[in-house]
Amino acid sequence: MTLQEKVGSLGLYLHVPFCATTCDFCTFYQEAPQRQQIDQYLDALETEMRTVGTDEPIETVFFGGGTPGLLMGRDFEKIFTALHKHFRFDPSEISVELAPSTVRGDKLKVLRDLGVTRVSMGVQSFDPQTLVALGRQQSPKLVYEAYDSLRSAGFDNINIDLMFAYPGQTPAVWEADMREALRLDPEHISTYCLTFEEDTALWVKLNEGKLRRDIGVETELYRQTWDFLPDNGYAQYEVSNFSKPGFECQHNISTWQMGQWIGLGPSAASQYAGWRWSNPADLKEWQEAIQKRATADGAFTEHAVDVTELSPELLATDAVIFGLRMNDGIDLDAIKKRWPEAVGVIEEIGEILCRFDNEGLLKRSANVYRCTDEGRLRVDAIGGELISCSA
Ligand code: SF4
Repeated sequence: MTLQEKVGSLGLYLHVPFCATTCDFCTFYQEAPQRQQIDQYLDALETEMRTVGTDEPIETVFFGGGTPGLLMGRDFEKIFTALHKHFRFDPSEISVELAPSTVRGDKLKVLRDLGVTRVSMGVQSFDPQTLVALGRQQSPKLVYEAYDSLRSAGFDNINIDLMFAYPGQTPAVWEADMREALRLDPEHISTYCLTFEEDTALWVKLNEGKLRRDIGVETELYRQTWDFLPDNGYAQYEVSNFSKPGFECQHNISTWQMGQWIGLGPSAASQYAGWRWSNPADLKEWQEAIQKRATADGAFTEHAVDVTELSPELLATDAVIFGLRMNDGIDLDAIKKRWPEAVGVIEEIGEILCRFDNEGLLKRSANVYRCTDEGRLRVDAIGGELISCSA
C-alpha cells in the first residue's frame, strides 16, 4: 500500500503528561508524576475512550508526552485493555516514546507482549556538555544501556531523537552526535532544531543575554544534516525525519497528509469526523471536561478547546502546507481530486506555488511540487503565506 493510499486511515494519539523533571527547552504539557494522579489519569483516559470510541479500525497509535515510559507495565496493560474494549484495535504500527531513564527489561517485555512495534527514544545528544546545557537528566551511558535493552527485548524499529543548534554548537560537534547515532544503527532518526519557546528555561537565558542564537550556524547545521544522514543510508522523508527504507513513521505521515486521528489525554489534539479540537492542557481541567462529557453523553468536542469545523478549503490548504514539509511534496491534481469542493482555493494555492517555483523555493514536475533545500529552510514562511488561502 502506498503512503497516499493510507490517507483514509484512523490514528490514535495518547498524551501521557508526566515527566520526572522539566527539560530546559520543553513546552509540552507535563506534570511531576504521583501515583494517585497517574491512577486518576488512567481512569479518565478510559472514560475518554468511552466517549470517542468508534467501530472504524485503528491503523496507527502513538504514545507521546510527557514521558510515557514513566508508566508501569501494569498501567500500559490497563490502557491496552481499554483500547481493545472501545476501539476496533488491530493497528499496524504502535509507537511509544521512551526516555532512556525509563527503559527497563520487565516493562519492555510487557510492551512487546501488548503489540508495541516501534520505540522512539529521546536522546537529544551524546555529548555530556550539551545534555547539561539542555537540562536533560541523562548520561550517554544510560542511552547505550537503554538502546541495548530495547534490542535485547526484540524491538526492531527504533527511532532516536536528536537536537541541534544549541548556542555554541559547531558542525564538528553536531557531526559527532550524528555519527554516534549511526553507530547504534537505529531504523529511524529525527533531528530537531532547538527552538526557544516562551517561558522555557532556555528562553529566559536567551532574554537575559546569557545565550545567543546564530541563524547562520543553524542554517549550516540544517544543510549538514540533510546531506550527512542520506549519505549514510537514512533517506529524508520530512524536514526533520530520516529513515531506512520502509521505516518511515506511518502515524506521523497520516497526520501530515490530513488523515484522521483521535487524541486522548490532556492537551492532545484531534482531527476526526469533520472537526479539529484540543483537550484542555491541564490534568484536572481535562479530567473535569471528560467527566462532564461522559455524564451528559455530549459530543466529543464539548468542553474541548480550539474547536474548528473542518472545511474542504481548510483541509486542502493544510494538506499543501504539511505536504510541502515532506520530500515527496504535494500533487495538486490529487488534492483537487480529494477535495473537489475546494477547487477555487486550490487554484489560488497553485498560483502561489508557481511564484515559489520561480523564486527557487520549490521545484515543479507536472503538478507535483517539492521544496528545494532553500525552500525547506523557509518552509514555515511558505506555510505562513499559504495559510491565508483558507481564511
Ligand atoms: S522534553 Fe520530553 S522529557 Fe523533557 S520535559 Fe519535555 S516532555 Fe518531558
